[in-house]
Amino acid sequence: MTLPTATSGVVYWFRNDLRLHDNPALQQAIALAERHHTWLLPVYVHDTALQLTSPWGFVRTSAHRLAWTAMAVDDVAQQLTALGSQLLQITGDPSEVLAELMTRLSASTLVCEDIVAPYEQAHIRILKKRGLNVQTVWQSTLMAPEQLPFAPQDVPDAFSSFRRAVERQAFAPAKPLPAITRMPALPELASDSLTTRPPHASGCAPLNEPLNDPRSAFPWSQPAFHGGERAALAHLAHYCSRGLPHSYKATRNGLYGSDYSTKWSPWLATGALSAREAWAAIERFEAQHGATDSTYWIGFELLWRDHFRWLHLKYGERMYWQRGLSDAPLQSRAHNARGFERWRTGQTGHALIDAGMRELNATGYTSNRLRQNLASFLIHDLRCDWRAGAAWFESQLIDFDVYNNQGNWLYLSGRGTDPRGSRRFNPDKQVQDYDANGAYRKLWL
Ligand SMILES: Cc1cc2nc3c(=O)[nH]c(=O)nc-3n(C[C@H](O)[C@H](O)[C@H](O)COP(=O)(O)OP(=O)(O)OC[C@H]3O[C@@H](n4cnc5c(N)ncnc54)[C@H](O)[C@@H]3O)c2cc1C
Repeated sequence: MTLPTATSGVVYWFRNDLRLHDNPALQQAIALAERHHTWLLPVYVHDTALQLTSPWGFVRTSAHRLAWTAMAVDDVAQQLTALGSQLLQITGDPSEVLAELMTRLSASTLVCEDIVAPYEQAHIRILKKRGLNVQTVWQSTLMAPEQLPFAPQDVPDAFSSFRRAVERQAFAPAKPLPAITRMPALPELASDSLTTRPPHASGCAPLNEPLNDPRSAFPWSQPAFHGGERAALAHLAHYCSRGLPHSYKATRNGLYGSDYSTKWSPWLATGALSAREAWAAIERFEAQHGATDSTYWIGFELLWRDHFRWLHLKYGERMYWQRGLSDAPLQSRAHNARGFERWRTGQTGHALIDAGMRELNATGYTSNRLRQNLASFLIHDLRCDWRAGAAWFESQLIDFDVYNNQGNWLYLSGRGTDPRGSRRFNPDKQVQDYDANGAYRKLWL
């Protein structure tokens, strides 16, 4: 099938920003198209490389993570259709299929969000090398770069120094933009060109249904936990209307149930929810019901999210090196592949760790408390290469976020920005502190 060509036009590439609310990059694309009286084509690329085997010997993205993302894609597609536009879904290598599309349409500009992780940046580099005009827009942090009290590349390494510097100047994240209510016209294409082609029609693995396990702390087979933007916004409103921001600090170290933490992360990961929108909801909640230590703590955690983003901007590829940001020699022992396999399959013999791994594998989600323990056990008890653990989380987590995952793993490996250096969690003590009655272990073993 040949697509007809057009003289100019704008292609908008949805990446981890699968939403119509608070989407400055999409707004920029719309403004550009309107200014030039031209068309705008929204596109999503199902990246086939994500379904390849990682160097650690397992698939880079599990079928359930693909299924979670597909929900967000579908929801955006439906909303665009309601606005008279349409989402073109293509399968392949993003830099190849986008370059081909741009050439066929004679599109003048590609606009997308900026993601400063090496794999994602390589796509942009290749597209630019091919002579395409690509505009990337930084948009996933609470604070815009110009709001920081330092140049983004000079972000303090220690989280506390970063937080204090940001808080010293009255912490005021950028306000979220309103949702898009109109879309420019589409290019004139053969009608079947815009037909959604699900990835399995193009040779990729078929998408799974949501993992349906009644024990899940993130029960995403239920409509209220659907992966789309509309469910994300409804969840945010519901979280606040039930007064949960006031109990967050006391409950956030919980291990099971859906209310102990905000459960925003799976939607934040695909971009179905914007962090600024989430924080604005907390500010409205505070205005109505009072600011407390607990509401402050939600912002505190979102600042961790921001910090890992700025650290990526500062250190780039170094965040992915085995020795990370540290000059200390690496342990001479080789990666413990057998230990890794026991960890990966939830068969280490330590009940808390095995319960956590089984929850992760069965649901695509586990609590922050468990994640810290799982990572610490892999690194410090089993003495495995921390990058193998990060890769397994990448494959399994429905809330996989490249900055947060890499940042947390690097931090726990002792090769990141933890001022205390290495940090081992004593799993026996953790059991006493967080699962003394054994309820969590009983649930999963
Ligand atoms: C080894 C390891 C790997 C992780 N991988 C990811 C990942 O791939 N994706 C991801 O979103 N989070 C990751 N986290 C951070 C954290 O565990 C999750 O964000 C959190 O458990 C998600 O649940 P929630 O939305 O209910 O969090 P809440 O406790 O309600 O926190 C609210 C939000 O604050 C942010 N946040 C909270 N804790 C952290 C943190 N430690 N680092 C960065 N941001 C944080 C998240 O955006 C979260 O949604 C990881 C943590 C560890 C220890």
